[in-house]
Amino acid sequence: METCKKFYENVILYMEGSLSEAQKEVFVSHLKECKECQSYLQYMNMLVHDRASDIDTDVEYWDNLAKKITKNIDSFCKKIELRILRLKGLLVGLLCLSCLILAILKEYHRNQEIVKNYHLYKDLPVIEKLDELQELCAFQEDGNE
Ligand SMILES: [Zn+2]
Repeated sequence: METCKKFYENVILYMEGSLSEAQKEVFVSHLKECKECQSYLQYMNMLVHDRASDIDTDVEYWDNLAKKITKNIDSFCKKIELRILRLKGLLVGLLCLSCLILAILKEYHRNQEIVKNYHLYKDLPVIEKLDELQELCAFQEDGNE
């Protein structure tokens, strides 16, 4: 007669169908007369089937999952590439903008200098007539001869 302990040891093998005919005979004959082992087998059965329903064994599912993961990785890489490209564009744009701002600031500074120093040359004589200029030039040429 098989003891309950032996039954517990063999219950998985029984469920797998791995017991030899002789072992199976002993196992079943104990099962028929032991209420505890009957409920234990029932419990184990329930446990295994509950767990089994949690695990998806569908080959197509796993195949699709692998494809989905590959696709996700691809799109992720593309996104990263696009972001790097955008970042490069942004950097070039920023560089151009800072050059422009620098040029504007330089020009503004030069104009400020002119305004600040206006008093230095506002009283300088302004030659209004072309004749006067020509006369002046002629006078200088005469003087050189
Ligand atoms: Zn038993």
